[in-house]
Amino acid sequence: MISRKFARRANFLFFLCLFFFGVITTHLFFLQVVKGKFYREEALSRLVLEEILPPRGSILDRNGKTLAEDVRVLSISAYSPQIDDPEKVAQELSQLLSLPPVELQQKFQSGRSWIEITDNAPLYLKETLEEKKLKGIDWREKSTRFYPQAPLFSNLLGFVGKDGRGLEGLEFAFDSYLTGKVGYSFYEKDALGKGIPLTTKYLEAQPGNNLHLTVDSTIQFFAEEALDRAMEKTKALRGVVIVNNPQNGDILALASRPSFDNRTFQAFPPESWKNLATGMVFEPGSTVKPLVMAAVLEEKKASLSEQFYCPGYIMVYNHRVRDIKAHGEEKLEDLLINSCNVGIITLAERLGKDKLFYYLKNFGLGEKCDIGLPGEEQGLLRPPRDWSLLSMGAIPIGQEMMVTPLQLLRALSALANKGVMMQPRLVKEITSPKGEVIESFSPTPSKEVVSEKTASVVLEMMEKTVAKGTGKKAYLEGYHIAGKTGTGQKVGPDGRYDPHKFYSSFVGFLPLPEPRFGIIVFLDEPQGEYYGGDIAAPVFKEIAQNIINYAGIMSDKAEVGLF
Ligand SMILES: [Zn+2]
Repeated sequence: MISRKFARRANFLFFLCLFFFGVITTHLFFLQVVKGKFYREEALSRLVLEEILPPRGSILDRNGKTLAEDVRVLSISAYSPQIDDPEKVAQELSQLLSLPPVELQQKFQSGRSWIEITDNAPLYLKETLEEKKLKGIDWREKSTRFYPQAPLFSNLLGFVGKDGRGLEGLEFAFDSYLTGKVGYSFYEKDALGKGIPLTTKYLEAQPGNNLHLTVDSTIQFFAEEALDRAMEKTKALRGVVIVNNPQNGDILALASRPSFDNRTFQAFPPESWKNLATGMVFEPGSTVKPLVMAAVLEEKKASLSEQFYCPGYIMVYNHRVRDIKAHGEEKLEDLLINSCNVGIITLAERLGKDKLFYYLKNFGLGEKCDIGLPGEEQGLLRPPRDWSLLSMGAIPIGQEMMVTPLQLLRALSALANKGVMMQPRLVKEITSPKGEVIESFSPTPSKEVVSEKTASVVLEMMEKTVAKGTGKKAYLEGYHIAGKTGTGQKVGPDGRYDPHKFYSSFVGFLPLPEPRFGIIVFLDEPQGEYYGGDIAAPVFKEIAQNIINYAGIMSDKAEVGLF
């Protein structure tokens, strides 16, 4: 019967359909519900979010010369399981990178999978590497810090770590300005792990800002070179040279020893990374005497025509403070020219404790300079209530106090700038990558410490100190140079002065009457000769001579022309 047959077949088809429907539904259920999580994760695992490090800002000198900048380099690594012929690959790479092939081959066969070969190869090698298609060798572009003038400026600039963050010096102190904003690239990988073009989306990295300094590379070179020679000659433990412009406070050079090379900083002990211009304190000795003289003149406690007598010692309370010798009859100016302890203590006693302290404090002794370098020391100038009965025999001649080399230069620079002390300036401005000024630091006068008249009288005394006094070794014929020597005894571990250990210093200015250059030379524990006039003054003279030639400062004698 046809109808029954048909009905049976229809039933069969119905059940067949139902069966397939069931299979498909189950499968869909399985795919969507049971395995869905797996597919979603796989799709996500192909999406890659990569950080793009921004180029760090540059550091430039006052003339726009680059002192630090980011450059693009190649970081090259190897995946050893993919290297079929280690000898051949080592040979090829060694030629490109100027590395010994044996060293590379040993690395490939060291048993490690991922091997870093170099992270500082020149960018132009990229094309060659692409052509050579060395199996198992991988490379990527990255930024690295480059110091075009290194090792010059190492103690000032400091350095950055592998992650591109500043770790020392200005690189550390201004890290937040120099570091840009990190960017991101977001793309999808194919099954083989390669990026699929068209899927990349960027959040651009923003380059860091640039730091414009007041230093001058040429003067920095003079300073570092002269300091190196002095360190070698005197076998001193530490040394500092700072050159400034007393009229606006600009720091033109800042050298510190021991030093290091900021391109290979790990190879040097951390003590050598410090900048001692602000990072150490010492007892200044006679270099503070011009400040005492200025205070005395300002307070009218002595006159230029007054006569003094130095018997070679002076009693302070029950203690005999000795001079280097009995200077005998002296005029007021001779007290500075001869660096006479007896005379300066006599003057300080006329001022009294409070006024003496007031002026030294106003000259910034024991006060930070805040030029932005990390690790600045404050120094120490105790208030009169903490002085002992013997302090009046010590403080006027630069003992019982601690200063940084920059503090001392700042103080004496006030005398070279008509009595007005300028705030030292190391950073002129900060600009964006497009060149817009973000922050600008103008020259700032801290205060008028003494009158213009007083300052000029003391400066003239300091000129005579160089022409015929203790600063003779800084004298340059035909030029108007003012200066003062200093020799401070070091305190030993027992708290007493060590008779064999000294600080030698010299602070000087040129050309008078309105000096544009101030120089401090400081040496810690020079061997053999130790008087500032013998040790530090010749270093000053060498730098001054170079600056005279560089800045074109005319000699008095130059007016006698050839025609
Ligand atoms: Zn004397």
